Amino acid sequence: MEQKENRFWETKSLKEMTKTEWESLCDYCGLCCLYSVQDGKTGNIKLLAVACQHLDISACRCVVYNERFKTVPDCMKLLPDKIRRIKRLPYTCAYRSLAEGRELERWHPLVSGDPNAVHEAGVSVRDKVVTGVHVNPDEFNYFTSGK
Ligand code: SF4
Ligand code: SF4
Repeated sequence: MEQKENRFWETKSLKEMTKTEWESLCDYCGLCCLYSVQDGKTGNIKLLAVACQHLDISACRCVVYNERFKTVPDCMKLLPDKIRRIKRLPYTCAYRSLAEGRELERWHPLVSGDPNAVHEAGVSVRDKVVTGVHVNPDEFNYFTSGK
């Protein structure tokens, strides 16, 4: 059984985490790498079933991770005090969950100990999206698993 002292996400705030702890919060669902559209009237964000061209949609990993902000200037930058203001961060995202005072889900790799659990739970974008350079929202379906 995992030692209580290793469950840093339950004892530290997002701001208190080390860089390694912070990075380990990502469950590699790939949801934040999907294109999105915003409803002009309600302001609600809808995710499209189209991912950034730099997302490996099988592994759900960014292939330019260390250069992502240079490569894609509007790639989402996550900072502890910014999380709650990022509207297109999905409900299931671990950063958003902790920022909103929720627990990590049981499929999260830190909880389950299994990096594949996020895919098996159907939360990730694996096998559900395509990648696209040019996106016309009228030509793609919405990604419907997230909230
Ligand atoms: S939505 Fe959150 S948990 Fe999922 S890949 Fe993006 S940062 Fe990681
Ligand atoms: S550059 Fe990488 S992290 Fe940024 S949106 Fe594209 S795939 Fe995701």
